[in-house]
Amino acid sequence: MSDFFSGGIPGIDELFRSIFSGGGFGGIGDIFGGGFGGFGGRSRQTQPRREVGQDIELKISLSFEEAMFGLKRDVTVQRYVPCDTCEGTGAEDKSSIATCSDCNGSGRERKMTRSGFGTIIRETECSNCGGRGEIIMKKCKACKGRKVVEETKTIKGVNIPGGVEDGVHLKMQGAGHVPSSNAIPGDLYLQIRVKEDPNFIRRRNDLYTKADIDIVTAILGGKITVPTLDHKSKVIKEKELEIPAGTQFATEFRIKNHGVPYMRGKGHGDQYVIANIIMPDKLSSEQKELLEKFRELSKK
Ligand SMILES: [Zn+2]
Ligand SMILES: [Zn+2]
Repeated sequence: MSDFFSGGIPGIDELFRSIFSGGGFGGIGDIFGGGFGGFGGRSRQTQPRREVGQDIELKISLSFEEAMFGLKRDVTVQRYVPCDTCEGTGAEDKSSIATCSDCNGSGRERKMTRSGFGTIIRETECSNCGGRGEIIMKKCKACKGRKVVEETKTIKGVNIPGGVEDGVHLKMQGAGHVPSSNAIPGDLYLQIRVKEDPNFIRRRNDLYTKADIDIVTAILGGKITVPTLDHKSKVIKEKELEIPAGTQFATEFRIKNHGVPYMRGKGHGDQYVIANIIMPDKLSSEQKELLEKFRELSKK
């Protein structure tokens, strides 16, 4: 479980709830196929449950820096909403709606089958009206009888919190498809994709950075600069780092609180700088001479 998933996010709990990937999301193209879900399936139910709109999934690509510091972004979604022209009936006018004669408007039909166990009565969706209980004689021109129309909706300034991980979904309740005026709207899931950054590897809330250190700095000590998250100015900045004399290959230096922001609570993880000591592959004759002298001195 990631930190992001295991608890609430302060301030944005109502709007967002993170979930893990997986589970089916119906695309816009799916919505007309085979009913909206919510009816059918459970045969003993006498009262139809409230219709539930389909969810929408939208990919949001972020740079590493955007994911670290968070941002507000306008999100445009295409969804279905009840047709205004026919008030979601799908019919041109009221007189063009007739009660289904097969099921008397119940939308259900009973089928009896005989088997070794006796007679089995199965209740299914009425095949004449498709479970709607009514037949539309003249379809609404605006929605072609579909009861819904496509809407392009822009949600301004969606808050994407700093520290979001690649692959998580931010849930926006009720921003999905709306199949009818009394239906429960579906939800919108923003799937976060975070581009990799060559300077940082993320492990939970810590960051790892490889720093090339020349051999003399490693031996004698000195200063290097490393890219690091500056949480005050919300940018990635070069930061000076003191290297002690005698630094070995793969030594880790911790820069406290320069890691990834915690999704809940305050503070950040740490950054670890891993020493990558670079051996010189070319030496001048003078450098060679000095190193020979160094070898002589080391023998004593
Ligand atoms: Zn019927
Ligand atoms: Zn219509």
